[in-house]
Amino acid sequence: MRALAAVGVVSTDGGTQIGLTDGADDFKALTALKGMTSDSMEHAMRRIVLTWVCAILPAMFVAWGCGSDATDTPSAGGDGSKRITIVCTTTMIADLARVIAGDDAEVVGIMKAGEDPHVYEMRPRDTQAIAMADLVLMNGLHLEAQLDHVVENHAKGKVVRLAETEKIKPLGVDEVSGAPDPHCWFNVEYFIVFAERARDAIAEVDPKHADAYRSRAATYIDELKLLHTWAGKRIAEIPRERRIMVTSHDAFQYLGKAYDIEVHAVIGMSTEQPPTGRDKIALQKLVIDRGAKAVFIETSVSAALNDMVRQIADATGAKIGGTLYSDSLGDPATPESTYLGMFRHNIDTLAEALR
Ligand SMILES: [Zn+2]
Repeated sequence: MRALAAVGVVSTDGGTQIGLTDGADDFKALTALKGMTSDSMEHAMRRIVLTWVCAILPAMFVAWGCGSDATDTPSAGGDGSKRITIVCTTTMIADLARVIAGDDAEVVGIMKAGEDPHVYEMRPRDTQAIAMADLVLMNGLHLEAQLDHVVENHAKGKVVRLAETEKIKPLGVDEVSGAPDPHCWFNVEYFIVFAERARDAIAEVDPKHADAYRSRAATYIDELKLLHTWAGKRIAEIPRERRIMVTSHDAFQYLGKAYDIEVHAVIGMSTEQPPTGRDKIALQKLVIDRGAKAVFIETSVSAALNDMVRQIADATGAKIGGTLYSDSLGDPATPESTYLGMFRHNIDTLAEALR
């Protein structure tokens, strides 16, 4: 008879799957056990058990245990129970989740500081992280272009796309994806909606710690409200005719609308398409016609795109006003590694360069 054989294969999207070879033959082999002598049956059974121990269990180990640097094993909570795991796509959302989760839940961030969500290329471990999550928090509105499909196909826990709610009124439509502008977090009032939705989802998945999640979220939302008021006042310091910002990619329309500043960019809402010479010439004309005082580069976009902003500055006489954080927070251990610090940096940079 043929023994059962298990193989672990890595699928095209990086996930590990377990397959049994020759299913029909194995079925025949098992049914052939009928009518054997007790000795030959015992021998056959031992082979099947050995095969399980040698082939299938290691394959399971590979699938569930190894290479999980993105998914640390959830450690015990204060009361000895297993903590839930919250997987977040962008750095902004991971920061928000960590504030609300405190020590009561494990937060895993998929993207690292400086990574661009529009063109983020999945790592094999991402599929595993998403599959094992009790809760996946993501932006939605096509921001996480590639990861969207992985979440769709592999998430087993609750999934919340924080920007996709009637409480957020999307701006514009991206020419490439056809999706609305996904950069809602640059209106702090919309980031408060993110916080409320994250709080409710975490409390629903882990009701035992719901009071702690609500309490931390309430404190954080108070800080966000103060940030919103401060940002409005700080931008208002810039004389109205100078309130015009030119950036690498079109990430700041929500900021512009919320805090009353006109926004232009070399390319559209997504960085999936490279900039063209025509984009550059059109923007140079605008900078000259409107007398824009400064142009701004961004942290999470390609060097080529930022170079184009520098060329616009050279050609027009506008200065480089500074670096803005667009689709990612700053490096760990810097003030910009939190949403609050990132937002203060951006608003201060604009206010200093344009006033
Ligand atoms: Zn963007």
